[in-house]
Amino acid sequence: MDYFPIFLRLANEPVLVVGGGEVAARKIDLLLRTQAKVTVVAPELIESLAAKAAAGVIAYVPGEFQPELLDGMRLAIAATDKQSVNAWVAHQCERRNIPVNVVDDRELSRFIMPAIVDRSPVVVAVGSSGDAPVLTRRLREKLESFLPQRLGDLAKLAGKLRPAVKTQLEHAGTRRRFWENFFDGAIAADVLSGREDAAGQGVLDRIGTSLTRFAKQSKFAGEVALVGAGPGDPGLLTLRALRALQNADVIVYDRLVSLEVLDLARRDAERIYVGKAAGNHHVSQEDTNALLVRLAKEGKRVCRLKGGDPFIFGRGGEELEALVAEHIRFEVVPGVTAAAGCAAYAGIPLTHRDHAQSLTFVTGHCKGEADNIAENVDWAALGRAGHTTVFYMGLNQLDNIVARLREHGVPETRAAALIEHGTRPTQRVVTATLQDLVSKAAEAQVESPALLIVGEVTRLHEALHWFNARSVEVASTDEGRLSA
Ligand code: SAH
Repeated sequence: MDYFPIFLRLANEPVLVVGGGEVAARKIDLLLRTQAKVTVVAPELIESLAAKAAAGVIAYVPGEFQPELLDGMRLAIAATDKQSVNAWVAHQCERRNIPVNVVDDRELSRFIMPAIVDRSPVVVAVGSSGDAPVLTRRLREKLESFLPQRLGDLAKLAGKLRPAVKTQLEHAGTRRRFWENFFDGAIAADVLSGREDAAGQGVLDRIGTSLTRFAKQSKFAGEVALVGAGPGDPGLLTLRALRALQNADVIVYDRLVSLEVLDLARRDAERIYVGKAAGNHHVSQEDTNALLVRLAKEGKRVCRLKGGDPFIFGRGGEELEALVAEHIRFEVVPGVTAAAGCAAYAGIPLTHRDHAQSLTFVTGHCKGEADNIAENVDWAALGRAGHTTVFYMGLNQLDNIVARLREHGVPETRAAALIEHGTRPTQRVVTATLQDLVSKAAEAQVESPALLIVGEVTRLHEALHWFNARSVEVASTDEGRLSA
């Protein structure tokens, strides 16, 4: 960071502006919004500034800049059209340790001014350390359109309420919930949309009721959000998942959750890893269930974050059963399951209608059979023409899976693809047929997590791949090596 971002309180503080033209006038308008006491020095003033001087809104010193004018100043802005004057002002300010901004001159400036969106008291400032002013202006425009016009009213209302909330709600955690509830709730929505006057009695009454309700609840019932984190790319999170992540006191996550997704959680949220590596259960499912129950009973808001979708081979159902048994409130946020994510990022339309009319998700191993292939599976149906099968947790079972399919008459020419680290920057795709799938996977040293797709649709990868050049490279060099 090249500049230290701060908001400076200037009410009733003396500020010197050197220059009396349009540029100076713009800076003065901004300064006046902060109630600063502005003095302008310039041989002459444009009309708008002269009017302000005449009305006593600003003080005017006619003539050239003199260093003594800086005495007692908190801040200075040099906005003349003469570079030598600006440099002289900057030099004098530096000698006196008065922060100075020279308009359009980063070198001479001690501070620079960001592009702002003003919803006072909420002010959003955007800067690029002077590198890309046009970019910061574009960002400002985006923020401008994105932030509700009445945001300032809402913030002012909150400011007014703060002392009362602080006295009535003793615990910081309860206060935080009150405010979250307030900003996410109906009162805020009504203020923002203009249905309620932020300064009106109606609003105060409604808030009073809500505050009393919060004050009565000495301890909060915890709750659990069972959230699908998707296959890895944080861009695939749902908005609801993001919200659950940012509201949570504790995040309980496992191995398939990418670091980029975890990074989106509230900074001060506790993170608990209950990871499992296939066949190597660090924390038993029972322990995880018990942990969720305990945390919720402590009044915490828990985000139980799971790779992909929590209800697809995620054991989310078992965790919910444990919560239901203890009457703990929960919600479920679906996620992009590995099949959907990997297929999309590998360019494999799972049910392209020229090739497939049905689709099955199968697990490569089953409860109680840690390293065994699932027995309760209709292999013949999975191998029919016109069908696509997605195997989760199938990497360790590749040879078994191929053997079963072959036993049930699936031809060895049936196409398949393995997608390793799907949707992540390290994604690789290995395409094969049942005949060479096992050897190709071994050769490419495919690692977990990897998803196996069996079906003619996987041939479309070659024409439709789009994500991450590496996948193509590996697939094609493998091809090259094998045919050579
Ligand atoms: N609930 C998860 C699946 C959990 S089972 C979901 O809906 O996606 C774990 C298996 O999912 C892994 O063994 C692997 O087969 C698959 N998987 C999960 N994330 C993956 C990824 N990014 N790339 C490839 N396979 C993935």
